[in-house]
Amino acid sequence: MDAPPREWFEADYYRVLGVAETASQKEITKAYRALARELHPDANPGDSAAEDRFKEVSAAYEVVGDPEKRARYDEVRKLGPMAGGFGGGGGGGFGGFGPGGINFDAGDLSDLFGGLFTRGRTGGPQRSSTGPRRGPDVEADLTMAFTDAAHGATTTVNVTSEVRCPDCFGSGAAVGTSPRTCPDCGGSGAVVEDQGPFSFSRPCTSCGGRGRVIDTPCGTCGGVGAVRRPRQVKVRIPEGVRDGQRIRVKGRGGAGANGGPDGDLYVRVHVEPHPTFGRDGDNLTVTVPVSFAQAALGAEVPVPTLDGGTVTIRIPAGTQTGRTFRIRGRGLRTTKGTGDLMATVDLAVPTELTDAERAAIQALADAERPEPATASSPGAEGDDA
Ligand SMILES: [Zn+2]
Ligand SMILES: [Zn+2]
Repeated sequence: MDAPPREWFEADYYRVLGVAETASQKEITKAYRALARELHPDANPGDSAAEDRFKEVSAAYEVVGDPEKRARYDEVRKLGPMAGGFGGGGGGGFGGFGPGGINFDAGDLSDLFGGLFTRGRTGGPQRSSTGPRRGPDVEADLTMAFTDAAHGATTTVNVTSEVRCPDCFGSGAAVGTSPRTCPDCGGSGAVVEDQGPFSFSRPCTSCGGRGRVIDTPCGTCGGVGAVRRPRQVKVRIPEGVRDGQRIRVKGRGGAGANGGPDGDLYVRVHVEPHPTFGRDGDNLTVTVPVSFAQAALGAEVPVPTLDGGTVTIRIPAGTQTGRTFRIRGRGLRTTKGTGDLMATVDLAVPTELTDAERAAIQALADAERPEPATASSPGAEGDDA
């Protein structure tokens, strides 16, 4: 018999399922079905609390839904929550020496507790075959408008990955049945052989190292417990996200195996350019056209802000084109702080002039060149004087 997983010492699976310790298997299954329906991720897209509960409920049912595992779990419960305080030294200092090499895992409670459950000896099963396995991380791309990225947004991304089978909830057994513990290895997935002070373990051939036997495989996933399919994941993109930044969405990657946690989803954000604004770190950049008269005489000019409004800045007389003015606190808000709005003056030369403007500019030109005006000044083309 294998050592119980460490979660058994911490989790109250009866409380998770909302049933009494004395509940019948039927009552447990009924409670699980109702909870699983209610909390299933497909019914609660983006609700991570429901998802966590769903995982908790699935993990609980995986144990107490199986009469054999339940009996062992009940035994563990009798030891009480402080059971972790003893048994550590008695089993000898050796971890499992698997056929693949030394597999010494001093921090592993199931090894420490091996002595209690495996005839006074350590030597756990090969973790690679039956231990909880974390699901793979998955990447997805997301293209966002500049303003959405600046303000942050809750959106959905399309992801295709292995997910827990929706029909058997990952157990791999057909609806209405559950996997049973492998009688040959007691659920450990490994057969342990004694060799003096060392113990060797080899994968159990009866169950292929899974520790469980499925009599009727689930038709949807063929008994694997996972199916590959597209899904939509709701993600919260924080304000001020940068182009190329990766956002981690915990637990929304590929499905874990054997009760292991799901992998993470990494969303790579692509930010579309904005017609007006640019970005420099957390600063927002913008070009502000000003006329020659404004630049020469000084003026109050409106600068567009990201929220669609404007803020007025005072440019002094003699402002050169290309000069940048800093407007504090009107840049991009990020989790780290707020940047500034950097407004760069661009001298705008008019392409069309009213008669009054033309006359005024001509007068300026004349004033700049005090020598007598010639018949036509350069640039004043096509118009008769
Ligand atoms: Zn299935
Ligand atoms: Zn087996």
